[in-house]
Amino acid sequence: MRILVTGAAGFIGSHLCDRLLQENHQVVALDNIKTGRLSNIEHLAGRDDFLFIKHDVSNFIFVPGKVDAVLHFASPASPNPKSPYGFPQLPIQTLKVGSLGTHNALGVARAHQARFLLASTSEVYGDPQEHPQQEDYCGHVDPVGPRSVYDEAKRFAEAMTMAYHRYHHLDTRIVRIFNTYGPRMRVDDGRAVANFARQALLGEPLTIHGDGSQTRSFCYIDDLIEGIYRLLMADVHQPINLGNPRETSIYDLAQIVNRLTQNKAGTKFFPEERVPTDPQRRRPDIGRAIELLGWYPKVDLETGLAHLIEDFRVQLGLC
Ligand code: UDP
Repeated sequence: MRILVTGAAGFIGSHLCDRLLQENHQVVALDNIKTGRLSNIEHLAGRDDFLFIKHDVSNFIFVPGKVDAVLHFASPASPNPKSPYGFPQLPIQTLKVGSLGTHNALGVARAHQARFLLASTSEVYGDPQEHPQQEDYCGHVDPVGPRSVYDEAKRFAEAMTMAYHRYHHLDTRIVRIFNTYGPRMRVDDGRAVANFARQALLGEPLTIHGDGSQTRSFCYIDDLIEGIYRLLMADVHQPINLGNPRETSIYDLAQIVNRLTQNKAGTKFFPEERVPTDPQRRRPDIGRAIELLGWYPKVDLETGLAHLIEDFRVQLGLC
């Protein structure tokens, strides 16, 4: 297939490009390099099965030649208000890429009668009141809260995707991605895994927001990509959660990172840094992915974090 990937220079998008090329597809990669970076895809430059176009997909998308599938992954995704790459500092762009960008990407898919896959998020569940989160849980989301620019953009994107499926009979898929980590994350991405790995490698105390009792479930990038590829090849139109069901508190995550890096600086608590409506617990119910895709994550947290830490050593110039 000839596959259009938006957000192709991002953390997940670039791993996706690698996998699609490995499977002998051709890739047309779009990115505006706002939160993504060219170094994530520079190893693909010059291949005749890979075309990169610098473009902001919130504007009309033109792709020369045929397109068999559109994978819409463009969006800021970090909730950290201090990170220049987080959606709190890019609120309008985040809303635009989730709404106008999704509309444009769906338009390309429709014009080519191509299949479409939307990268959605566990954020559609907001600060969930059901646990673990199943796909039919409708969420607990504040439409005007600090995370709303991302949550509501993705909820709109899902609605738009289903509208194209129902009214235009487009062959669509929706993946709800839970916390994912791995090489090529930015060291200054601002999310817990990235902050902790960076701080530990620099011998600093790890900054725990709140009391660290809040939980997340961390999925290694290779597992996620496997699930996305299976979904692309499957005939499944309802949303699918992809994530690792092992739930870990932020406090425990910090201890694991300090152990793996032999960081002696410990942890430091910042109660006031926990943003309002920060989810207290998050864990995917992946029953649907197991049943419909035969997918289950295989990489355990310690192994995956070791890969991330190695990558961060290089990014920080420590080796
Ligand atoms: N967090 C933290 N220290 C940091 C960064 C994040 O304790 O340096 C907390 C954050 O407040 C949240 C959790 O870790 O409760 C997960 O946040 P993250 O930014 O990784 O992404 P989210 O899962 O909220 O999208």
